This record gives sequence, C-alpha cells and structure tokens, in this order.
Amino acid sequence: MTKQNGKILVSACLCGDKCRYDAALLAVGPKIKKMGNIVSVCPEKLGGLPVPRAKSFIKNGTGKDVLLGAAQVVNEKGTDVTKQFLRGAHKALACAKKNGVTRAFLKSKSPSCGRNGVAAVLLKQHKIKIIWVD
Ligand code: SF4
Repeated sequence: MTKQNGKILVSACLCGDKCRYDAALLAVGPKIKKMGNIVSVCPEKLGGLPVPRAKSFIKNGTGKDVLLGAAQVVNEKGTDVTKQFLRGAHKALACAKKNGVTRAFLKSKSPSCGRNGVAAVLLKQHKIKIIWVD
C-alpha cells in the first residue's frame, strides 16, 4: 500500500491551466491553487491530445465501459480517441499513486474528469475519493 501524504489530485483546468479542448481559462484557478498541496493533471493532455482539440464524448457507454473495452471515445470530427483517453487515465492514476493521493477535485461534465469520465472512473476504482467542481 502507498503511504498517504495528503496531496490532492486536481484537474489541471481547475488550476488555471489552459488545457481544455477550447483552451478556455477557468475562473476558479487562483482559488484552487491557493489550497496548496495539490498535484494537477490533465488526463487528455497526458494522453497526447493537443490544445485546442476537437470536443470528445463517450459513445454508447460510460468511462467504465471504455475501461472494459466495451465503448469508445470519439471526437466531434468522428476520430476515435479511445487510446489517448485510456493512456491519459492511466498516467493520471500513476501520478496519483506516486504522490500518495487519496482525494481529487475533478472538473465535472468532461469525458475524462467528469462523473462517468474515463480517468475519474479509473481513479474511483483505485479508492480515490472524488469531488466534482463545475
Ligand atoms: Fe484536462 Fe480534465 Fe480539464 Fe478536460 S476536464 S481539460 S481532461 S483536466
């Protein structure tokens, strides 16, 4: 078991990183950064996707189905980006484990970080407690 050190994993776009598909800057950044002791990750960037990028969604299922190989992630241009989403989710989990993370603040309504997103489900499956932020 990993020794816990209390760090919190946070979606990078909530920390002021312009990593969203539309490269928009979210207003909550400065407040969240002030909390300190955070590890920020953007699973989609970790998976190799660029900024900006076409918006993606999970087709015919949830993040859990994607992890099981039973659903895909596609972008609005019709390109299958499942591989990048899986890679990003596993890299986010590796980062969480390396830092002894037990809690996360993730961006809601995202195919990666949202409630049923690929990275969020993988983190939940590894006992990380998640609070979603709009
Ligand atoms: Fe990256 Fe997650 Fe924010 Fe999307 S919601 S931009 S994957 S950190």
